[in-house]
Amino acid sequence: MGRGAGISKPFPKIQQIIETSSAEETLAFGRYLASSLKSGSLVALFGDLGAGKTTLIKGIVSEISKIHTEEICSPTFSYLNIYEEGQIPVYHFDLYRLNSVEEFLDLGFDEFLFGEGIACLEWSERIASILPSYTQNITLTYDGADKRRILYEF
Ligand code: ADP
Ligand code: MG
Repeated sequence: MGRGAGISKPFPKIQQIIETSSAEETLAFGRYLASSLKSGSLVALFGDLGAGKTTLIKGIVSEISKIHTEEICSPTFSYLNIYEEGQIPVYHFDLYRLNSVEEFLDLGFDEFLFGEGIACLEWSERIASILPSYTQNITLTYDGADKRRILYEF
C-alpha cells in the first residue's frame, strides 16, 4: 500500500453542539461563525421549518454585509439572495421548493457553490449529492419554544 492509502475516504468532521435559548442567541452564533468563514466557504443547514436556519444565516449575512437583520429574508420563492455589500459576497439559498439537483444545475447555481463568496444553504438535503466534503454542516433541532440544539460539523 502506498503512503496515500486510505486518505481518499472523507475524514470525519469535528462536531460541536451548541444550545441557544433565544433567536437572538442563534443570531449571535451566526455572527460568531461568520468570522471564521472565508471566500469559497460552504455552510449547509439542515432542520425542520422553524428550526432557526434563516435566523442563523441572518447572523452570518449581517456580520459580513453589515445589513440590518430586519432587512434580510429567506429567498423561499427565488431560491437565492446575493449580498455583495461586505468584503466577501454571501449567497443565501433556500432550496425548500427545489425539485431536483438537475434543476439546481440547470439554473447555474453551482457557480455560487464554488464561487468567490460564502454560500449558506437552507434545505441542503435537496442537493446533498453534490455538496463537497469540505462543506460545513449545521443541523438545528427544536428543543422547546425558544430552545434550539445546534450541531455544527466542520
Ligand atoms: P427556519 O428557517 O429553520 O424555518 P426561522 O429562522 O425562519 O426557521 O424561524 C425560527 C423561528 O423560531 C423564529 O420565529 C424565531 O424567532 C424562533 N426562535 C425561538 N427561539 C429560537 C432560537 N433559540 N433560535 C432560533 N430561532 C428561534
Ligand atoms: Mg428558513
